[in-house]
Amino acid sequence: MNLQRPNVSEASGDGQAFSNVRKLINDVCDRLNVPERCRLKLNECERELIVHFPVKFDDGNAKIFTGFRVLHNDTRGPAKGGIRYHPDVTLDETRALAALMTLKTAVANVPFGGAKGAVICDPKVMSQDELERLTRRYTAEISIVIGPECDIPAPDVGTNPQVMAWIMDTYSMGKGHSVPAVVTGKPIEIGGSKGRFEATGRGCTISALLATKNLGMNPREATVAIQGFGNVGAVAARLLAREGCRVVAISDSRGGVYNQNGLNVDKLLAYKRETGAVCDFKDTENVTNDELLGVPCDILVPAALGGQLNQANAASVKTKVVIEGANNPTTPEADMILSDNGVLVVPDILANMGGVVVSYLEWVQGLQSFFWDESQVNEYLGKIMTNSFTEVWEISQSEKVNMRVAAYVLALRRLTVAMCLRGIYP
Ligand code: NAD
Repeated sequence: MNLQRPNVSEASGDGQAFSNVRKLINDVCDRLNVPERCRLKLNECERELIVHFPVKFDDGNAKIFTGFRVLHNDTRGPAKGGIRYHPDVTLDETRALAALMTLKTAVANVPFGGAKGAVICDPKVMSQDELERLTRRYTAEISIVIGPECDIPAPDVGTNPQVMAWIMDTYSMGKGHSVPAVVTGKPIEIGGSKGRFEATGRGCTISALLATKNLGMNPREATVAIQGFGNVGAVAARLLAREGCRVVAISDSRGGVYNQNGLNVDKLLAYKRETGAVCDFKDTENVTNDELLGVPCDILVPAALGGQLNQANAASVKTKVVIEGANNPTTPEADMILSDNGVLVVPDILANMGGVVVSYLEWVQGLQSFFWDESQVNEYLGKIMTNSFTEVWEISQSEKVNMRVAAYVLALRRLTVAMCLRGIYP
């Protein structure tokens, strides 16, 4: 058996993602006079586990993979955050995503902290059996830190309900009994919540409707462009179209399609399932991912990876509202350009929090073994999204700051109170 070693330089990452999140945390801590000990705690991740582990391939060879599980802060409750499978993911990015989860759960006011996990791998080139073996081994490696009372994973880019089922099963085998509450985003048949699969896209749709209403726009006359056609992007596209919006452009990792008269989202989904991509869909013009971000529209939903709206392309964005379906899709430089150009940016920690809200509901249902119907879940989600959106909007109006700063203000107020109440151990 050949055992390939990982390229370890990949694992460290020299990106800016975590320092960008820290900078904004520090700016808002200054504004709020947050006690120094709280600020210092928020500047670091509480725990970082790096694992290197072998996985057997179908051809008999094996490869060493590198994975992470980072817990940023669990002051307000057990840590919560997804697991990403992507060839370019780094420890730095995982830290940033974990910190965003701490802020997001605080904005949503659900009793969780923030965490994130990742494996550097390309799930697109692996068989289902290889993915299962990778997932089970990664789960065994991180099972010393995850658990229903301490750190609860969920899906993110490159992972899905099937991956969550393997995680739940592997963790349960180690305990000798089923532990459904160890992950959320599971299939409904093994304890998942109705409405969880659609929750993040549904939350983005609710955010888009509230934002357009507050700007005096009619959503039925709004045009929408969406980057990313996975869990978040595809659900947001379907639900926004159902609300009467005209979805004019959609992309995936291979590029996008555009038709100013509108796309049939359901037919495009079927086409993507059949061909593996959205490009060349009939009656549309192919566009690159960069061109998609610049198409004229009222609502732009980046729902793919981080850093997509940046200094190089922000000035060419022609939209009124950005709904950040993805985590960290806008760099600080792009944020300033969009703000100067009068674009309303609804930040990730508010716009895409629908997933973690329904994950909370799934966790509660799992712990009680008492399950709700979809209308109850959606009603609860609608209430929490509307409350948080309204709170952030009001802070942004009263303190004359953009919605990202306002969301950080709301989150850091809640986190500071909790950290002060708990104090420092011992
Ligand atoms: P996914 O894997 O289901 O879909 C990702 C989509 O992005 C795919 O369509 C892929 O083709 C596309 N994509 C990848 N690279 C791209 C590129 N360079 N340009 C354009 N498209 C590209 O992932 P997802 O769960 O939909 O997550 C998308 C984003 O939303 C991520 O930033 C994730 O962190 C964030 N998010 C997800 C959830 C959730 O519940 N799944 C919750 C909150 C935030």
